[in-house]
Amino acid sequence: MTFYNLGLIGYPISASVSPQIHSAALKEAGLKGEYKLYPIAPDDIQGLKDLLAKVRSGELQGLNVTIPHKQNVIPLMDELSDTAKIIGAVNTIVLKDSKLIGDNTDAPGFSNDLQNLLGQKELRNQNALILGSGGAARAVTYALLNTGWHITIATRHADIKQAKTLIKDYETHNAQYAAKLSNIELKAESLSPHLPTLSLIVNTTPVGMKSHHAGTPWPKTLPFLDNAALYDLIYTPTKTQLMKDAAQTKLPTRNGLGMLIGQALLSFEIWTGKKVPVEKIALE
Ligand code: NAP
Repeated sequence: MTFYNLGLIGYPISASVSPQIHSAALKEAGLKGEYKLYPIAPDDIQGLKDLLAKVRSGELQGLNVTIPHKQNVIPLMDELSDTAKIIGAVNTIVLKDSKLIGDNTDAPGFSNDLQNLLGQKELRNQNALILGSGGAARAVTYALLNTGWHITIATRHADIKQAKTLIKDYETHNAQYAAKLSNIELKAESLSPHLPTLSLIVNTTPVGMKSHHAGTPWPKTLPFLDNAALYDLIYTPTKTQLMKDAAQTKLPTRNGLGMLIGQALLSFEIWTGKKVPVEKIALE
């Protein structure tokens, strides 16, 4: 029976709950193995190469990748999945036919969990607002584009390069996306006219995350309208200030724990071939 040596590359990662998720998944799937943390400093490319050599040799069966290495590992892969290519980030590494494959399960992890917030409603051609334009925003954008949404990306700076690059990359991938993507400044005057048209707001900024950034990314003077649902990618705390404020206006809200578990279980399936239902993973 294969013993699955799995793990996570990132920095810092000591607070990661991934070992808990994957240990529970191994148990649920009836497999033997362990999931270890591999902290590798941001500029330690040799450290990355050494660890990847262990995947090539079969010593490790799979790795997850998180900040700050989701882009750093790309030139070290033999192939990227289409999803990893378009998102421009790798969160899952596996050896297949002697090739190191970089994949990304963040987008399907988000899509699957979003259904728990929105139900099975037909959402094509509806409007979503994404707060932030970093790595997580790229995965969320991809997931929403794939399911037919129109997307406005709101960033705190008027002419942010990151948002423009994101939009340009997706338009290059598929010219039809040009009509579906726009960006605005994350401030009351810019957002206000958009609010009545929105069905979904997604927070991909770290604002509101425990011990990182207090407060909320939403402009103080802008009231919520109750026509949209709110998905916050943050999962600690379980209710961010943004979620609490939105719930006061009766917006349905959901935090990012389901996405976190969902993306982990999709990685687990890539490595082991075993599907574990999200409901089977209970975190303490
Ligand atoms: P990132 O690449 O650093 O991007 C963060 C984005 O937030 C950037 O666009 C940044 O804009 C913006 N931002 C930062 N501070 C802001 C502020 N005070 N006001 C407005 N915008 C601000 O980080 P990431 O990898 O995308 O992760 C973002 C969050 O998503 C984190 O909290 C992370 O834990 C969470 N996440 C959750 C999951 C999950 O499975 N639930 C998965 C991935 C990420 P600037 O360029 O202006 O700084």
